[in-house]
Amino acid sequence: MEDRKPSEEFSLVQVAEGIHVWLAPNGSWGMSNAGLILGEDESMIVDTMFDLNLTRSMLNAMATIEPRISKSVDALLNTHANGDHCHGNELVPTERVIASEETANEMDELPPAVLFAMVERFKGDSSALGQYIRHAFGAFDFSNITMRLPTETFTNEMSLTIGNVEVELYEVGPAHTRGDVIAYIPSRGVVFTGDILFNHETPIMWSGPVDNWIAACELIASFDAITIPGHGPVTDSTGAIEMRDYWVMLRDQTKERFDGGMSVLDAARDIDLGPYAGWGGPERVFLNVNSLYREFGSDRVIEDVMDLFAEMGAIWVAGNGLPADQSN
Ligand SMILES: [Zn+2]
Repeated sequence: MEDRKPSEEFSLVQVAEGIHVWLAPNGSWGMSNAGLILGEDESMIVDTMFDLNLTRSMLNAMATIEPRISKSVDALLNTHANGDHCHGNELVPTERVIASEETANEMDELPPAVLFAMVERFKGDSSALGQYIRHAFGAFDFSNITMRLPTETFTNEMSLTIGNVEVELYEVGPAHTRGDVIAYIPSRGVVFTGDILFNHETPIMWSGPVDNWIAACELIASFDAITIPGHGPVTDSTGAIEMRDYWVMLRDQTKERFDGGMSVLDAARDIDLGPYAGWGGPERVFLNVNSLYREFGSDRVIEDVMDLFAEMGAIWVAGNGLPADQSN
């Protein structure tokens, strides 16, 4: 896994006039999509990458479309606080870094140095947790990242004009994280959803409540626009409806098992994912069921994030038929 070089596999794709997507080759851990909005003489970038090399590749590709990107960008939006959407902020030549207030609050809670230390710690570790940490994070370089935090925050809604292009920002979190934002460009019929949408990838609910996420999917679908998920290929309103239906299914199936007194692990194993079983990262269902149990008021949820990764790692190792050292 450490030999993977994701920077060589991304591509810049135009989806509408002045709207480009920096599209990851797959939607797995850290493989996030970003965007470029070009208005008359102005530009805005939506999200940066998980590490500096990936962000440099993105900016270089964007500069081939619009050379002034390398000197000046009018605004950068971070859709949420996860590192795969903001670790590269320091490389964007802009004065204006926009995020929701909650995203700004959350952004410095998990410093890149912690991820760097974690990847170092699990190098060569053959436990399920070690293998899973390398699978999720081993391809990225978390060294020497200085977090650049938002300079401008908002709550609920904000609109801004990039040249002649109006961009509407809607805070739809807490859902995936505490402060998720989507960006809708009405004149181009495009919406950037951040990690409210994982297209044919299992989503991850760090925060919840799930009903906020369901409502956000319905808002996205109501735009009937070209829809850019945070992870996975470009879609349209059908991607938002699928994501809503996943959460309705998981919420209801989890509630039944919670009411029946099952443990989180037993519930996660017992739920039939049906049409969603083929989505990437199915082991994340464990984290989602854990978050739903917390929402339902369970006192038996796992709070430690490494314990969550260990459980997901065990499911992932078993699902992929990999041997694992039981010592960890
Ligand atoms: Zn992400």
